[in-house]
Amino acid sequence: MATTTASVTDSWAIADNALDFLQRAVTEANANRAHHKYAVLDLAVAVETLIKARLIREHWTLVIQPIGKGTTKAKFLAGAAKTVTPGEGLDRLRDVVGLDIPTSRATQMTTLMTLRNQVVHFAPPTGAGAATTMLDKLGTGLSFALWFLDHHFAPDAPDAEAAKIEEVKQEISAELTAIEVLAKQRLDDIKELLDAEERLYQCPYCTHNTLAPRDGAAPECLYCYRAGPGEEVAEEYLGYPGAAGPVETCTACETPALLAGVHPVKDNEANTGDPHDPYAEPHWLCFACSMTAAEQDIINCLICGDATDGGDSQLCGSCYAERFEVF
Ligand SMILES: [Zn+2]
Ligand SMILES: [Zn+2]
Ligand SMILES: [Zn+2]
Repeated sequence: MATTTASVTDSWAIADNALDFLQRAVTEANANRAHHKYAVLDLAVAVETLIKARLIREHWTLVIQPIGKGTTKAKFLAGAAKTVTPGEGLDRLRDVVGLDIPTSRATQMTTLMTLRNQVVHFAPPTGAGAATTMLDKLGTGLSFALWFLDHHFAPDAPDAEAAKIEEVKQEISAELTAIEVLAKQRLDDIKELLDAEERLYQCPYCTHNTLAPRDGAAPECLYCYRAGPGEEVAEEYLGYPGAAGPVETCTACETPALLAGVHPVKDNEANTGDPHDPYAEPHWLCFACSMTAAEQDIINCLICGDATDGGDSQLCGSCYAERFEVF
């Protein structure tokens, strides 16, 4: 028990720091060209610290290089111990911790670290197309950072880190949508995660088919990380072809985030149709609680017009109570 608490505390400070650098790097990558070198530097720090925080989450000694006679936890906590390079850290995550780190990913990280060294030594790529090269490499670095975050850092994060990850994801959502150089790679990066989803919708922010329903919570975009608030996402979705307003109050969670005409772009259930129990395609989606319903399962109350699942009375709960139960 004591060990668990200690290791959570050990990784928290560095994880917190890493996520701050990531947020800043994304903002700078989305800013004008003059900011790109700062984006490279901050992204390199973010990646290096994310790797270290992930190692420390397992055990603090995993970041020490080499582990020798003088290695003590006090030295580590004081920042006086020599630690692994990002490359060594990634090797340990693969070989010691057992994370799946394909060589292509390790190469992406090396590309970022090489670019960082060039920027630090005032020798950024030069010549024709140099700016594009730098931007492409920055895109590669970002692709790695977000892949690492999605696949190996966010899953099973301790509570404090999970909360911070969520916060940063929402902060960088709009920026990610705008970084064009990222789009080429990011859809590939999240392919596995997309494949694992039973149902997907188009995200009204980044426009990719990457919005995944979450049981009892707002759908989450795997591309741009946008997740709620449901009222805002529903309003944003209103402009989409097929979406039929107005936004209704959800019959399950009572948030004004329920919209008609929201059809999945991927739906595994639709493919396993049973001829005796025909599948009713979802037509309603609540952007606050991910509830879906077939077209006929939600109606407007005959008296007040609110969305309701009605039952036989075709009235909402409160109109029904007012009419029949007060007597
Ligand atoms: Zn999105
Ligand atoms: Zn709802
Ligand atoms: Zn009513």
